Amino acid sequence: MPKFQAPKGMRDILPEDQVYWEKIKQVVKNLAKDYGFGFLETPILEEVDLFIKGTGQYTDIVEKEMYSLRTKGGDQLTLRPEFTPAVIRAYLENGLSRLPHPVKLFSLGPIFRYERKQKGRYRQSYQANFEVIGEKDPILDAQLIQLFFSISKDLGLKNLITQINSIGCSRCRPNYRRMLVSFYRSKKKHLCSDCQKRAQRNLLRLLDCKELKCIKIAENVPQIIDHLCDDCHSHFRSVLEYLDEMEIPYILNPHLVRGLDYYTKTVFEIWPDDEEGRQIALAGGGRYDGLIKLLGGKDMSGVGFAIGLDRMINLIQERSIKINTRTKPIIFLIQLGELGKKKSLKLFEELRRSGLGVASSFSRNTMQAQLKRADKMGARFALILGQKEALDETIIIRDMNSSSQETVPLSKVIAKIKKRLKK
Ligand code: AMP
Repeated sequence: MPKFQAPKGMRDILPEDQVYWEKIKQVVKNLAKDYGFGFLETPILEEVDLFIKGTGQYTDIVEKEMYSLRTKGGDQLTLRPEFTPAVIRAYLENGLSRLPHPVKLFSLGPIFRYERKQKGRYRQSYQANFEVIGEKDPILDAQLIQLFFSISKDLGLKNLITQINSIGCSRCRPNYRRMLVSFYRSKKKHLCSDCQKRAQRNLLRLLDCKELKCIKIAENVPQIIDHLCDDCHSHFRSVLEYLDEMEIPYILNPHLVRGLDYYTKTVFEIWPDDEEGRQIALAGGGRYDGLIKLLGGKDMSGVGFAIGLDRMINLIQERSIKINTRTKPIIFLIQLGELGKKKSLKLFEELRRSGLGVASSFSRNTMQAQLKRADKMGARFALILGQKEALDETIIIRDMNSSSQETVPLSKVIAKIKKRLKK
């Protein structure tokens, strides 16, 4: 056992896994751009109060999961447990409300939650987060879900399903809440201890508790979609129609509530559509029509979602999906002898700047070892700079497929390679 280990629930991402991370970030960035999102980076630390107010005081995230600290100056900060309140803060603080709306922002980075350790659940995990601020049209809810499916498609991930629900708004939810209170009145003592607390402060959460006895009780609960106001009802119907139109797979899940205070109307999660994926949502989000005002902005709508990148990558690996981002070098530079070695450093720089894609293995000294490496990396050409070539200001171009060799002046080598590549 090494003397020091990464903090519990946190992990190193090793070079061998970086191809997956590079690929997913690249796909997310490309598609975010296609769908009109601007890239926003926010600090990893934020004021604790932002999440108490934004995410909600009685949510699991705020009650149990934040990594909070007090700075030397006495500020109460926390490692962000999610993006949305931070993005809205940045939107308001930087005057982005002056831009034409909707304002579409996406972010990439770690979030921190002090969660119980479980498969696919980390205390530091990575999210791609998307927010659309200032638009209440249901087409945007559907388009965000479509964006997730486009990202998944580009990663080769299939068999995924959207779970979707509407949890109403400040007009219809109080009425539904009253129905829940009366439904649970006689059943309180049969709930798990968490739910007994939730029954007082975060009633909707009773619907998605994972404890068997609470699931059983929730089976007979009145469903919120039967009690939506006209506005929420027609909004939800439109979202579903758009999903149908785009042939996006979904199921209605009347128990999906998402657990955070700010959601209104549409809530959704996207899951692998198979048995073993049951505990692992890949993405989740929804509409938050009251949050911007709550954080000090105008009374305007918003909708957003976050993708869990760790889980996406785990699924890509579990399903053995090939990810091809490692570009093969075109050239492998081989150096032999003292003079060849000396000159190769400068040449490597010139080749690198030419944009041709160059690799080398300066610490290996034999021709055989370097050729083997060139072959393994899949280089098109090996350039051989030996003692003789270094003295003559020449270099050998070796075609790695045919093994044919040609000696050319050193000053012409880049032009020669480019010419051969054109053929
Ligand atoms: P949430 O808004 O909490 O549903 O988070 C959105 C997505 O982020 C989830 O669907 C997960 O894919 C991912 N996620 C959230 N928390 C974690 C975690 N602790 N470990 C790994 N992934 C997470």
